[in-house]
Amino acid sequence: MSENSYHTIIVGGGIAGLTSAAYLSREGQKVLLVEKNKECGGLVNTFVRDGFHFDAGIRALEDAGIILPMLKELNIPLEIVKSPVSVGVENEILHIENLDSLIKYRDLLTKLYPESEVEIHEIIKIIRKIMKDMDVLYGIENPVFKDLKRDRIFLFKKLLPWLPKFIFTVGRINRMNMPVEDYLEKILKNPSLRDIISQHFFKNTPTFFALSYFSLYLDYFYPKGGTGKLSEALKNKIIECGGEIKTETKIIDVKADERLVKDEKNATYKYDNLIWAADLKTFYKIAEIEGLLPEIQTKFEKSKSKMLNNRGGDSVYTLFLEVDEPLESFKKIANGHFFYTPSKLGLGETHWDELNNLLSNWDKVEREQILAWLDKFTRLNTYEISIPGLKDPELVPGGKSGLIISFLAEYDLFKKIQMSGWYDEFNSELESRILSVISDSVYPMLKDKIITSFSFTPLSIENRVGSSEGAITGWSFQNPVPVINKIQISDRSVLTPIPSIFQAGQWAYSPAGVPMSILTGKLAANKVLKREAT
Ligand SMILES: Cc1cc2nc3c(=O)[nH]c(=O)nc-3n(C[C@H](O)[C@H](O)[C@H](O)COP(=O)(O)OP(=O)(O)OC[C@H]3O[C@@H](n4cnc5c(N)ncnc54)[C@H](O)[C@@H]3O)c2cc1C
Repeated sequence: MSENSYHTIIVGGGIAGLTSAAYLSREGQKVLLVEKNKECGGLVNTFVRDGFHFDAGIRALEDAGIILPMLKELNIPLEIVKSPVSVGVENEILHIENLDSLIKYRDLLTKLYPESEVEIHEIIKIIRKIMKDMDVLYGIENPVFKDLKRDRIFLFKKLLPWLPKFIFTVGRINRMNMPVEDYLEKILKNPSLRDIISQHFFKNTPTFFALSYFSLYLDYFYPKGGTGKLSEALKNKIIECGGEIKTETKIIDVKADERLVKDEKNATYKYDNLIWAADLKTFYKIAEIEGLLPEIQTKFEKSKSKMLNNRGGDSVYTLFLEVDEPLESFKKIANGHFFYTPSKLGLGETHWDELNNLLSNWDKVEREQILAWLDKFTRLNTYEISIPGLKDPELVPGGKSGLIISFLAEYDLFKKIQMSGWYDEFNSELESRILSVISDSVYPMLKDKIITSFSFTPLSIENRVGSSEGAITGWSFQNPVPVINKIQISDRSVLTPIPSIFQAGQWAYSPAGVPMSILTGKLAANKVLKREAT
């Protein structure tokens, strides 16, 4: 093959692209992974500032029967620790330890909302059933990461007995596809209680996915050194297997007929197969399809219009804190991964209706109105708080702690604020409100101990990983998703209308996240290998 020609080019060095590249280079393919940033990992990334390690994206990993089998199959060693979760509302904090913690969660909710005791029992019963389904779903290593021809014990002793249970469970999952808000409304009368259970999920999250979170809390683990170690380990595997990685290289053009991609400096790279593991709207905007068969062009245009008419799901706002307070002070209160809601009132209409109202009347709205909304939003929201040092003490300078505090955030709000010219001011208002809410409630010792604070908004995410609307798990659930969303046909999620081009990552399948990005990365690699073999 000539210098700039490859069996497979992978665009996007996030966890999906890294997975595809690792598998294909292991198979001896000539592989090029192209990443626009200086470092790979995308939303699975850890950075260091002043000796504090912070996870820029996901705070801890869920195996989901995918990550650990993938590491095992690729023979990648990764030192990991459990990442226990705490859940808290006002002064009630629960450390989730095992399945019995669900009873304690029930008691916590009943203490906060005694008038809803019967309904709480009902919802806990449903969560318990879902946990049983999750045990089936993730009960064995995902077969996509097993060599079924060689591993006959897995095939006969695990996979075949599991399949009927899986099919039955998938049927139940598909029946619980309705938005979690609607589902909870049928069971729980108290709107505050509904919010407390569901407000840290994306709008219209499918019920099964949202209510399965109690299982996922028990599944979280953390790589020593930070979540970014997973990306680093995959990157090293690619290099070890002879794959090529080009960072600081952004692909701006795909000429499908000529099978080449072009970067910002006008360099071109030829491929037999392309895996697009980055933002899908970008792909559909830049791909040129002249010269392809007319039926492929028609299919492509149809897909393009579906994709471009849709939008990414919620994004995230994150506040990073370097704190002059030892880890022990925080350890006494909660685990290093903590979902905390300072008020049992719940967001109510604050998040959606009131915000949408502000956004649709933007030109008439005063700054004071937006700040008043912000005030309420920060007081009533649920925060995901991660303290990397509680999972691995090496991640902070001695006697100090690093905190990562985040919540789901609407991209359009930050975009409009930026266009109105008060982005920096808004950001510092937001930072100081979060700090006062958290230090007036769960972590009072934060008050005078902040060394430095800085934040990432949905616009920072869009800018860093090129993700439409700053989305972190692909498509919004508010419209029908334009990609495959059924686990039993996930195999097809990596196909595009163009036979030599595959897709992987957060945009390829819904609902997405790290395990599904890895799964689609592997599925895309499998399709490439199958195509090469025929
Ligand atoms: C705060 C936070 C919390 C999260 N929590 C969870 C969680 O609890 N559970 C869970 O499962 N998931 C979670 N996620 C989501 C998860 O991290 C992502 O869905 C997943 O990492 C996406 O991986 P990806 O490879 O598909 O995409 P990305 O990570 O977005 O990677 C895409 C890569 O492509 C590169 N790129 C883009 N355009 C180009 C181009 N034109 N040329 C070259 N390179 C390009 C980008 O720079 C990026 O590196 C969270 C994310 C965040 C930010």
